Amino acid sequence: MAVPLDYNSLLVAIGFSSAGLALTFFTSWLVAKTERFLMTWSVGLMLIMVATLIYAAFLQDFVPILGATAFSLLLMGLVVVMAAGRQFRTGVLPVRAMAVSAALSIAPMAVPMLTGYIGIAFIALNLGATAILFATAWDYWLGRAEARTPILLLAVLYALTGVSFAACAVVLIAERQWIIHEAPVNWVENLNLAVSLASTAGIGALSLALNQSRLARGHKLDAETDALTGLFNRRALFGKVPGDLAAPIAAIVFDVDQFKRVNDVHGHQAGDEVLRVFGDLLAANTRRSDVAARLGGEEFALILPATSLDEALLIAERIRMRFARHGFTSEAGALTCTVSAGVAGCDTGRTGRDEMLRAADAALYSAKQSGRNRVVSTVIGADQDVGRVA
Ligand code: GH3
Ligand code: MG
Ligand code: MG
Repeated sequence: MAVPLDYNSLLVAIGFSSAGLALTFFTSWLVAKTERFLMTWSVGLMLIMVATLIYAAFLQDFVPILGATAFSLLLMGLVVVMAAGRQFRTGVLPVRAMAVSAALSIAPMAVPMLTGYIGIAFIALNLGATAILFATAWDYWLGRAEARTPILLLAVLYALTGVSFAACAVVLIAERQWIIHEAPVNWVENLNLAVSLASTAGIGALSLALNQSRLARGHKLDAETDALTGLFNRRALFGKVPGDLAAPIAAIVFDVDQFKRVNDVHGHQAGDEVLRVFGDLLAANTRRSDVAARLGGEEFALILPATSLDEALLIAERIRMRFARHGFTSEAGALTCTVSAGVAGCDTGRTGRDEMLRAADAALYSAKQSGRNRVVSTVIGADQDVGRVA
């Protein structure tokens, strides 16, 4: 290679790239202040940037106090970056773990640095950085379920950087460099800086991408969720259930009985509570493959794939009974509520989603007509409504 890797240029590059990223995270935090981990990240990177500047000054004359300051700031920066990763995963800043990690990594470095064993201080710094970076990699590994590829890449980058610090420690130990008077110069040190530089950029880009994808997922979920019950809303139901469906498949449409009266007598809040309870009941009585949604007002729908009409009827009946048994209280006194349901099922061939919901709606209308608090079912594909009344 014509141009060798230059230690000082790499150091300057790390300083600049940390500063740039710190600024990027800070501005991202300004537009989304609830994402506090962005601010934590920014602080960690700023500490690393300042550490790099002071370290460059330390390399001039090897003044121990400068070295101790630079290395302490670097270790603190790495601890804060680790904490930002944890905060991203759990939503909580691990203050105690930060204090303990900083103390445990700084003390073994600072004592030899200030007592003349600068080589040992370098070894302690490298080992401390390795431990923190491995802990960070482990933390990301634990949260890999959220977005496998970017998170695994992040874990690998942190671990690789950790390995490059460990290699520096190994070389110093192998060469018994307990007391040194200038910075260790060898290919492992250069590699450490090169890896750190690449990781800073890679980790920065991946972390921002990860946060963007989380925000996008959050917005999508908000747009699909009914705020009162936490169930899917009408739009989400139509998005989740394909228009053309293979049998066996069933749909149930529920409508709370005399709900207007609940509001009129017991107030809107009591009405809301009734809807929440019914939503919970629906959620508790569905499988993962089912889609439960609030269609609007006091009307709910349940789509049941791989379910025969008879099974759907049992499910609707169970929900109707459990709801009727539930007691509510309001300032106007105790109350109970009932629900009517229309079940449409298609046991052979194919059917359309909209056709099935229309059929369930028609069955619901029959249930209301024949006195409420009951389940009426209809077979899709047959000419006549069965009109079973529970
Ligand atoms: P039926 O037995 O025939 O279904 O009679 P109903 O009173 O339940 O039906 P109606 O359609 O006359 O009344 C529905 C009421 O639901 C009217 C509306 O104010 C109320 N409602 C709709 N959305 C909400 C809500 O989010 N919260 C509350 N508390 N009430 C709601
Ligand atoms: Mg109603
Ligand atoms: Mg209604």
